[in-house]
Amino acid sequence: MTLKIDRVDTYILKVPLPKPVADSIYYRTHWHVPVVEIHTSDGLVGTGYSGLWAGEELLNMTIDRYIGPMIMGRDPSEIHKIWRDVYWSPLHWVGRAGIAHMAMSMVDVALWDLAAQRAELPLWRLLGGRHSTLLTYNTDGGWLNFTTEELLEDIQGIISRGWKRVKMKVGGPDPRVDIARVKAVREAIGDDITLKVDVNQRWDRITAQLTIPKLAELDIAWVEEPLHPDDVIGHAALVAKSSIPIALGENIYNAEHFATFLAMNAVDIVQVDVTRVAGITEWLRIAHNAQEQSRWVVPHAGDMCQVHQHLVGGMGGDFPAMIEYLPWAREIFEDPMTVKDGICTLPEIPGASSKMRADARERFEAE
Ligand code: MG
Repeated sequence: MTLKIDRVDTYILKVPLPKPVADSIYYRTHWHVPVVEIHTSDGLVGTGYSGLWAGEELLNMTIDRYIGPMIMGRDPSEIHKIWRDVYWSPLHWVGRAGIAHMAMSMVDVALWDLAAQRAELPLWRLLGGRHSTLLTYNTDGGWLNFTTEELLEDIQGIISRGWKRVKMKVGGPDPRVDIARVKAVREAIGDDITLKVDVNQRWDRITAQLTIPKLAELDIAWVEEPLHPDDVIGHAALVAKSSIPIALGENIYNAEHFATFLAMNAVDIVQVDVTRVAGITEWLRIAHNAQEQSRWVVPHAGDMCQVHQHLVGGMGGDFPAMIEYLPWAREIFEDPMTVKDGICTLPEIPGASSKMRADARERFEAE
């Protein structure tokens, strides 16, 4: 009997954050998770999802009206074939980035989850099984809406729970205040902790040129998203001048744009996010390309690490196997990632760790 997709369901979860957080662009109280579940004729269910805080219904609508009907009756194991058919469907006009592309990602993650379940392997082993543990760095602190006192308390708390790598937000209206806050954190945590900073796109080229050398005096491991994410030339100029590596990628939505950043030498650390590019299929193309060009791939935590742990664990190569840790949606997953003392131990349960808990809809489903 041929294997077939016979049902595609979507729903939305809204998860409250433990406390409101702000970076240099947004203030958030909730994390929204649109979910797709793909049922197949052998009785398996694959789960894909995204993470954002506005527009989640648009992703699900794209699946309900367009992608779902396109893949109904198809063989779910033909992942690349389905990817190309959806990519070159009439959605192409509205879909090489943004909403349609993110909806494609949800479906693609669900198909890979199905493939791993069918192989009875965790996805990272299906992909090649290079690393069974990963380093993590913690971003669940250092928010821009915290006073300096709260910031220090918050980051010290993360370190006391075992992390040796942390990130804090900068990009406020006055770079001198940013520098003072980073300095206060560096003095409080000492020299043995790796500290990264995230601008969230807020600087112009001049502010970046003036501020990065001051950060370099504070032993900063990377500067993330210093400029507008589409400014390839500006980032190339910073990479050429900066003694601190430049990290970006969470706002780059496809393989072609990543290829341009790599070709222009406009990025050091590649933070490709599986929920923003069109799923695992495109993530792997981008990550392999970056790795071949001697860049670290350290994915952004937009999917709450659940799928990224498998992707980094499954990749070959000798770069540091590391992911961002931001545990906003742990409560919705049946098998939330395991992290102790800043080290993630990869799961042995078959699939992509994307399955939702049985009570997730009852607790968090949006009206
Ligand atoms: Mg970031």
